[in-house]
Amino acid sequence: MPLAKPPVPPPARIWSAVLAESRRITPLDSREEVRHLLFHIGNLSFDAAPGNCIRVLAPGQFGNRHHTRLYSLMDLERRGDATEFAICVRRCTYIDDFNGEQYPGIASNYLCDLRVDDVIEFAGPVGYPFVIPDNKNADILMLGMGTGIAPFRTLIRQIYEKIGGWKGRVRLFYGARSPLEMLYMNDENNDLANYYDQPTFKAFQAVSPRPHFDAPVALDQALAQNAAEVWDMMQRRDTRVFIAGTGNTLAMLDQAMVELAGSARDWVAVHDKLRSSGRWSEVLY
Ligand SMILES: Cc1cc2nc3c(=O)[nH]c(=O)nc-3n(C[C@H](O)[C@H](O)[C@H](O)COP(=O)(O)OP(=O)(O)OC[C@H]3O[C@@H](n4cnc5c(N)ncnc54)[C@H](O)[C@@H]3O)c2cc1C
Repeated sequence: MPLAKPPVPPPARIWSAVLAESRRITPLDSREEVRHLLFHIGNLSFDAAPGNCIRVLAPGQFGNRHHTRLYSLMDLERRGDATEFAICVRRCTYIDDFNGEQYPGIASNYLCDLRVDDVIEFAGPVGYPFVIPDNKNADILMLGMGTGIAPFRTLIRQIYEKIGGWKGRVRLFYGARSPLEMLYMNDENNDLANYYDQPTFKAFQAVSPRPHFDAPVALDQALAQNAAEVWDMMQRRDTRVFIAGTGNTLAMLDQAMVELAGSARDWVAVHDKLRSSGRWSEVLY
């Protein structure tokens, strides 16, 4: 008997949103441009959780209708009859494999160049969210680099502003190439400083020792300096570990955790336990 065909998933719903504000959040003397973009949707049915992304449909090139890229959602709020959300976008470039020339990335430049009242289209939400546990005594470890801070900023706001009374330890280990590129933690925008007086919250920053040579960000050193606490958190029954950022984050973390654990075998055992119990989540790109 022929096998039944799997059901065809419904096409993802396409939404449109209007740009309400675009703000550079890296100082002008930083070589990185990262912008905080705030959008409004005149539709209350759009909903998402921290860690979810939207798939932005930027205008395509070379005959393609769209060029689609994912961005982590932040600050989703209902305001009157509209839904508001933000994304944090780094203006990217890429090197063409054939001619070795550098070109502007299509979606990030499209978003960074938008003007107030411009309209974007996107699909979503997509991806697995970072779920805040019900148990307020649970520890939460957030490890991220660059624009990976976006979902963590939302999680930290939710834990301390919406939920409140959090008793578990919340630790953010965040890496950027230089102090100027510490998103939401620099002179231009220091949102996360609002939570430094929370007794259960601590943030640790790491930068590259030689940013102009693209030397790796020393997130591993920040972890090593707090090894005893991190290792203790990793082994507790309710701890959640959330990772976000660019692809090399994971390899670097893996190495740092082997050091913390004392051996690859011990690290793999703890890592497997966190993963199999659904307490380890990643958004990597
Ligand atoms: C799950 C997921 C979530 C994401 N969330 C965000 C987000 O919140 N904010 C954001 O700016 N980007 C995010 N990205 C990356 C984003 O989807 C695009 O890849 C990026 O904006 C570049 O798109 P582009 O079309 O401009 O250039 P592309 O031609 O796609 O990429 C240009 C180059 O930039 C590199 N690159 C892409 N994104 C970054 C980044 N954020 N930091 C450093 N280098 C990068 C790529 O590796 C590539 O070499 C996410 C990606 C994924 C898969």
